[in-house]
Amino acid sequence: MEMNMRLSRNEMRGKAQTVLGLVDPATLGQTLMHEHLIWDVTRPSRRDASTKGGPDPHDYWKLMTGGIADPRNTTQRDRGLAAREAARIVEAGGGTIVELTIGGLVPDPEGLVEVSRESGAQIVMGCGHYVNDYQDLDNSQRTIDSFAQEMIDQVQLGAWGTQIRAGIVGEIGCQWPWTDLEKRVLAAAVVAQRETGAALTIHPARHQDHPWILVEFLKEQGADLPRTIIDHIDRTIFDDDRLFCLADSGVVLEWDLFGQENTYYAHADIDMPNDGMRIQTIRRLIDRGHLRQIVISHDICHVIRLAEFGGHGYAHIQQKVLPLMRKRGYSDDEINAIMIDNPRRLLTFV
Ligand SMILES: [Zn+2]
Repeated sequence: MEMNMRLSRNEMRGKAQTVLGLVDPATLGQTLMHEHLIWDVTRPSRRDASTKGGPDPHDYWKLMTGGIADPRNTTQRDRGLAAREAARIVEAGGGTIVELTIGGLVPDPEGLVEVSRESGAQIVMGCGHYVNDYQDLDNSQRTIDSFAQEMIDQVQLGAWGTQIRAGIVGEIGCQWPWTDLEKRVLAAAVVAQRETGAALTIHPARHQDHPWILVEFLKEQGADLPRTIIDHIDRTIFDDDRLFCLADSGVVLEWDLFGQENTYYAHADIDMPNDGMRIQTIRRLIDRGHLRQIVISHDICHVIRLAEFGGHGYAHIQQKVLPLMRKRGYSDDEINAIMIDNPRRLLTFV
């Protein structure tokens, strides 16, 4: 096997990096900023169960509302299936998928290369580690420096034992209460952001004050806030005071649960908005001048959400959400900012 060369900051500046290599950011097109194509979100303690064949679509409602925790639903390792699903966004006019399956979620960089070649979708891969309870036990002893060097290498050299490089840092995982290990990983992710010029994307804890706690931590660590994305706003913040305060900090806000139309959220006692409500909330932020701080996605990590299993699939935003935005008065410029310009800015190395 040949040695991989380290890309310098200068070589990367002004470009985006997909699993196939550096690209002109103008080629990214409409971009989904938070997805999973090949993943395992099964709790590590339950990973021995068979996942063959996928979940039974007859269990759709129970799977969607948390009535069944089926490892066949929380695991997707089939590259062919991922390619067929990704091809749907290309047919619908989309161009790029940001794939955030990282440490703890069983990343498959070579699989993503195959999926990109077969589907025609560009794929930008994340790096770093997901929440505490999914991390390798060895991580508990590791230092900030060790995590930082690992993420820098994943961007500049290659990730998870391959020569395939990451194009964004994250989704860095946090749970509630926020653990020391997770704080070390996030501090390291900020170092990696500063060293590589990549954007940083963060999975906040399921607590309405955690995004603000994150902002204070990120400021202390010297993060580039306009190039830092707080994910899963849909399931985290439910009032405008917190929302506007967060937006005023300059971070990017991500509504990445589009297509989840479900009140009965399995992971927390919250009132999950539906797509119409998401669009209304984003409207209030745009009217307040925050258009450049908004990105959207589906965060598909359950098989039952894939089109072949009766779900909405990765083209849902193109097929359903963007037309709804137009009907609700969004202009083409606003939609292009959310779908093309903001992702392009974030995915371009600085
Ligand atoms: Zn995710």
